[in-house]
Amino acid sequence: MNDKRVVGKVQDPKKRVNNFDEVELGFNDSEALMEANRCLQCKVPRCVTGCPVNIRIPEFIKHIKENDLTSAYEVISSSSSLPAVCGRVCPQERQCEGMCVRGIKGEPISIGALERYVADEINKRDIKVKNIKKNGKKVAIVGSGPSGISCAYDLAKNGYEVVIYEVLHKAGGVLTYGIPEFRLPKSIVEKEVDNLKKLGVVIKTDSPIGNSMTIDELRKEYDAVYIASGAGIPRFMGIEGEDANEVFSANEILTRINLMGAYKKDAKTPVKKGKIAYVIGGGNVAMDAVRSLRRLGIEAHLMYRRGEDELPARKVEVTHAKEEGVIFDLLRNPVKILKDENNSVTGMEVIKMQLTSVGEDGRKNIEEVKNSNYEVKCDMVVMALGTSPKHEALKNSDVKLNEKGLIIVDGTKTSMDRVYAGGDAVSGSATVILAMEAGKKAASEIMEKL
Ligand code: SF4
Ligand code: SF4
Repeated sequence: MNDKRVVGKVQDPKKRVNNFDEVELGFNDSEALMEANRCLQCKVPRCVTGCPVNIRIPEFIKHIKENDLTSAYEVISSSSSLPAVCGRVCPQERQCEGMCVRGIKGEPISIGALERYVADEINKRDIKVKNIKKNGKKVAIVGSGPSGISCAYDLAKNGYEVVIYEVLHKAGGVLTYGIPEFRLPKSIVEKEVDNLKKLGVVIKTDSPIGNSMTIDELRKEYDAVYIASGAGIPRFMGIEGEDANEVFSANEILTRINLMGAYKKDAKTPVKKGKIAYVIGGGNVAMDAVRSLRRLGIEAHLMYRRGEDELPARKVEVTHAKEEGVIFDLLRNPVKILKDENNSVTGMEVIKMQLTSVGEDGRKNIEEVKNSNYEVKCDMVVMALGTSPKHEALKNSDVKLNEKGLIIVDGTKTSMDRVYAGGDAVSGSATVILAMEAGKKAASEIMEKL
């Protein structure tokens, strides 16, 4: 049996660095079939245990082998509301593919790419939804990101009337404002949100909760409330000079670029572009920010305090960033932002770092290299250090928070009766698929209770 993993085509780095079009082009029919044929159809499929939403992976791959994409989609969508999204942005190498038995001695099956292939092919068709008998129960969801969508999907399929309240003018949460077009096209998110609406889910955009409408008022109108408001407050380093004009959060840069199209010539909210930018951080958000800036024609650096092996971002994103000309400044940390009399960034004072022993969490500890400070020139700094929940929606409510400012839950139940919570508002910023897992769990707990 062929053990070589089939890899889909990608846009040429020289071209893609000048556009925001999707980098990975996905499988064509014959590539998908070839890759599906590598699957061993394991009787005890380890891959499924690696998937937070437990997609029946061998079953959908078998349908691809039989060229029955409708059945493949039915299998995937019985567990996941966002297959075209997850096929693109899940950290598969640490989840389903990380557990695939073919990966023990060779290369794992490209499960994510196959899932994306099926979803994209079916999304080209007009998906018909069977009539669902309503059960007379109503649930309100706060936030239309992956956790809210996932909860709404499971509830709607089971006959619940679901209304999602979204604070922004577009649905999708982090999928819409956070992840750039070149990694997750907006049309893909819109299509999957449309599929949710076909199930009868109502999405009210521009509808903040917390002031004019409170959680308690929602509770009076609905049988249950699920809070999936995410984590939107960016963290900063707290170093000198961080108040300079051209120090941004990755959230702001990505929102301006993704949601408001700041990269377009006729953009109403353009990004104030520099010539040399440093993005501080090493996760996927840092990678998204630095690759977006690169596409604006900026000399874009990624500065991370640990080494390449410790970068939390997906390996594929790191590879793509390097191909696009992003400069990696590893084992480095800013200690001060330098600025001029106009409060404009002129550079950074940086210190070298070194790895030491392995900590309790399995990660290598780091320490500063004494007297190794030096200065770099730049006119833009972007902090991509994670986010914390904002909790605007909880104003005037009795939902309790822990000392880290995260919602306290038992399962997904909060301190208020019939009010549930999950995703980043409970865990702090995590991945799309973990937020979806929480949404599914909340749906099942709500259904059990009502
Ligand atoms: Fe893998 Fe994510 Fe799909 Fe699950 S949802 S099978 S983890 S790509
Ligand atoms: Fe196929 Fe790998 Fe899952 Fe086995 S573990 S069923 S080879 S995807």
